[in-house]
Amino acid sequence: MSITDIFGSNVFSVSIMRQRLPREAFEEVMEVMEHGGQISMATADIVAGAMKDWAVEKGATHYTHWFQPLTGSTAEKHDSFITYPKEGITVLRLSGKQLIRGESDASSFPSGGLRATSYARGYTAWDITSPVFVRESGCGVILCIPTIFISYTGEALDKKTPLLRSLEALSSQALRILRLFGNTTSSKVTAYVGPEQEYFLVDRAKYLKRKDLVYAGRTLFGAPAPKGQELDDHYFGQIRERVGAYMKDLNNELWKLGITAITQHNEAAPAQHEMAPIYATANVAVDQNQLTMETMKRVATKHDLVCLLNEKPYAGINGSGKHNNWSVGTDDGINLFDPGDDPASNLQFMLVLACVLAAVDDRADVLRESAACVGNDHRLGAQEAPPAIISIFLGSQLTDIVDRIVSGGSGEEENAEENLITGVSTLPMLKKDTSDRNRTSPFAFTGNRFEFRMVGASDSVASSTTAMNACLAEAFCNAADALEGAEDFEAACRKYIRRMLKRHYRIIFNGDGYSEEWVLEAARRGLPNIGNMVDAVQVLTKSDVVAMYEKFHVFSRTELVSRMDVQYETYAKHINIEANVMIHMASKAYIPAVVSYSGDLARTVASLESIGMDASVQRELLDQVNRLLKDASAALATLEHHLPQVHAMTSLKAMAEAYRDVIVPCMTALRTPIDKLELLVHQDVWPMYSYGDLLFEV
Ligand code: ADP
Ligand code: MG
Repeated sequence: MSITDIFGSNVFSVSIMRQRLPREAFEEVMEVMEHGGQISMATADIVAGAMKDWAVEKGATHYTHWFQPLTGSTAEKHDSFITYPKEGITVLRLSGKQLIRGESDASSFPSGGLRATSYARGYTAWDITSPVFVRESGCGVILCIPTIFISYTGEALDKKTPLLRSLEALSSQALRILRLFGNTTSSKVTAYVGPEQEYFLVDRAKYLKRKDLVYAGRTLFGAPAPKGQELDDHYFGQIRERVGAYMKDLNNELWKLGITAITQHNEAAPAQHEMAPIYATANVAVDQNQLTMETMKRVATKHDLVCLLNEKPYAGINGSGKHNNWSVGTDDGINLFDPGDDPASNLQFMLVLACVLAAVDDRADVLRESAACVGNDHRLGAQEAPPAIISIFLGSQLTDIVDRIVSGGSGEEENAEENLITGVSTLPMLKKDTSDRNRTSPFAFTGNRFEFRMVGASDSVASSTTAMNACLAEAFCNAADALEGAEDFEAACRKYIRRMLKRHYRIIFNGDGYSEEWVLEAARRGLPNIGNMVDAVQVLTKSDVVAMYEKFHVFSRTELVSRMDVQYETYAKHINIEANVMIHMASKAYIPAVVSYSGDLARTVASLESIGMDASVQRELLDQVNRLLKDASAALATLEHHLPQVHAMTSLKAMAEAYRDVIVPCMTALRTPIDKLELLVHQDVWPMYSYGDLLFEV
């Protein structure tokens, strides 16, 4: 089968709907998809019936409302299409009501404080803007209906509802801006997202023996392998056969689901790879990225591999992120972030750019928070991922224009289009991009989009996209408030742009984001540097943040408080699991192995000395091993002592802080001597696969 036959074959797409629905029903669905509103119950029944028939032809037995609770992954409960049999025969059925609405026990999902008020009841509701699909897995074929998830009292319990709200806010505020420039044709604005997904692969048999990978998704012990990524030989390197077979299979599965997997390559670290789809509307991209992560894991099993999406599976080498490529465009094809050939004289682009600078500078903490997740704490600021400080990379051309405007010019003064000089006459003339690349920036302009690079590999792109949409909606709103009704719009607009660029100039940074100097310079500029998830989470309930989110109807205060609590709890639970895994591994595997090794050494020393031989080398080794064993044992005892106390704390915030300030250092204290022992103890008695085994033998 060719790609075109496979592509989208498991999606109840617009073209399938066109084929299978009566014309009026099809048109009603399209109208609601494009312009919002509700479909009638009669139409819902027709659509549900057609969906069910299509899915049953594909072998489906069940349907599910597929949603994204605050756990970070997706949730589903399968219901079969069968109905009560008549004369022993069942009829398969999916009603409009079943399609549109579901009821779910909200109490088993994280809800922060909302659980009490929601009386545990939650509803799922069909999100008509994201396509329905069938998924093939061990459970058979399941019809999946993307839904939002809300409580009995209407509060969002998921990541999708706020995202959809933020898209509406962005659309209405962006349209105000477009109207100022005389645009009367665009009727809707939306955000587009292209998430680049990094991941690691590890051999499944080895993975199963590493309990830290199994339970925590990342290694909690492990000495560095003799070789890391210092030769830069993995990035874009030739893809190994086994990995290639995995990628091929993965592409097929993604294509079936209508996911436009397009780019694949090896990443910087050994056994690390990346997949990127073609960007899509934010809502669809978010769903498809969740599906991509699920599919990556599922397909890996078939190849006796495991796909690790944790942000930092291995210490000492690069972790995994997810670059959120984000742009804003109209329904008639205008990309608001496209500078065109001559950005300086493109007033609309310059206003949009000024608004992005304002949004990112005013709301740096909100954006930072939107990328906070437990694993990301090991990544941000670790000299391999962007720092925890938000800044914008604009590249030299745009920065020059900004500089000229800020210093009183119009920005249009000089405008040399540059070509690259290759020195070879037969090579094509390469036109220079508007911006160079800068891999160290958290928020980089890359020609016609911004690339938010802070997001963690395991995280949904929903939170960061919601935050970017809302913050930009606010900046657009401020601009529109200031400019609507201006007598001389162009003059007022130029003035506004200059004011914004001046005020927010500090957010532009084109230098090396990994450097020590930048940390100092950023502090001097007054930019926030929020180093960990627990500190980041507090941003959610700052009064100005609540006011912003409430003003644009993205989150209510109650929802923000609940999300803050969920995040504290998530942090505490994750660290608690990691600490418990370390206790298990240290007491059941590492310490016993070292004890028996030191026993062997001691016997060797005794027997050598008993016949008058020099045992100084053995004695020295034994001494070293014993000292480290003692350190490990003491660190284990300290961790075991503190863990129950922290776990018993009742304030979620205090508990999360204690995990960060007390437990995490205890974990480091335990890991350090054990990693040193790994390099001293004979490999035959070491109870765990090494970093070398895990990273270089995939
Ligand atoms: P790079 O490594 O240069 O960042 P990739 O090809 O790996 O590029 O990924 C770039 C991602 O950005 C892709 O998902 C691509 O579809 C997406 N993208 C391109 N243009 C836009 C745009 N206008 N808006 C959002 N995403 C975009
Ligand atoms: Mg990129």
